[in-house]
Amino acid sequence: MTLLRVEKLAIDVLRDEGAHRLVHDADFTVAPGETLAIVGESGSGKSLSALAIMGLLGEGLQVATGAIHFDGHDLLGLDPRRMNELRGSDIAMIFQEPMTSLNPVRSIGHQLTEGMRLKLGLSRKDAQARAVELLTEVGISEPEHRLRQYPHQLSGGMRQRVMIAIALACKPKLILADEPTTALDVTIQAQILALTSRLCRDHGVGLVLITHNLGIVARYARNVAVMYGGRVVERASARDLYARPMHPYTRGLLSSVPRLDLPRDMPLTPIPGAPPDPMQVVPGCRFHPRCAMADGTCAERVPALEAHDAHEVACWHPDRSGSPIRKAVA
Ligand code: SF4
Repeated sequence: MTLLRVEKLAIDVLRDEGAHRLVHDADFTVAPGETLAIVGESGSGKSLSALAIMGLLGEGLQVATGAIHFDGHDLLGLDPRRMNELRGSDIAMIFQEPMTSLNPVRSIGHQLTEGMRLKLGLSRKDAQARAVELLTEVGISEPEHRLRQYPHQLSGGMRQRVMIAIALACKPKLILADEPTTALDVTIQAQILALTSRLCRDHGVGLVLITHNLGIVARYARNVAVMYGGRVVERASARDLYARPMHPYTRGLLSSVPRLDLPRDMPLTPIPGAPPDPMQVVPGCRFHPRCAMADGTCAERVPALEAHDAHEVACWHPDRSGSPIRKAVA
């Protein structure tokens, strides 16, 4: 069963000179209770794709082509009022930095109960009781006391737990989490990711986890879509992707993060160069200036996403060795 299906999604930025494409033909699906990780560097199009699902693309940005189907709705065809109803109830979002997402002059209790009263029609008393349950569920002690506090009185980890509680408050079917742990230290990151994916699985909520860090999603995502330069370049189950990465960019990402399942003396190898400027036109495969496997074809023709064994890969020369990362590829 599919909860979310994004098909051939293309997003343009509108400039005086004309439209410039930032996201090309993005395809992915999420089932109820499943975690999909969308991984990529800054400018890869992962956050724009999430904003398009939420109907929150900013001024000057537009969906050019493609379709977004969610729970029987064609999201791109919905009128703004209906989309607004779905947002915050059926679809929720957890943002990167809770300090800027939470209202500093409203108590935690107000922010947690507001959506439940508006969207679910709960009384103040019932919303308050549900808020206590939610804070307990996300691991916050003394929940009645925390409801009276303000965001600045909580630690970064607690604020992010509150954001998770707010996202779950209206019983959503889908949560989009955009770099939900970037502002936290490593230990808290692992706790928050484990908590988010467990709660979504327990509640049957589909989770799209957006991150730049391929290393942190291995344990929490069932499927992974790797994006580069506005395109999905590799898609596979997390197990297959980590065991046999096929795209040189994915292999480069895995070579550059520490992994406990590989020999300790294996050196980390960063990918040379920098991600392309999203506003820059790069002919052929956008990874070719950084790729050790690139040839003339790569510099001229864009590879399409094609099935190779259990993976889908957009590359003229995917790694078919079936090997995990043994050496640097770029
Ligand atoms: Fe490298 Fe060519 Fe594959 Fe692009 S298409 S990732 S340049 S081998």
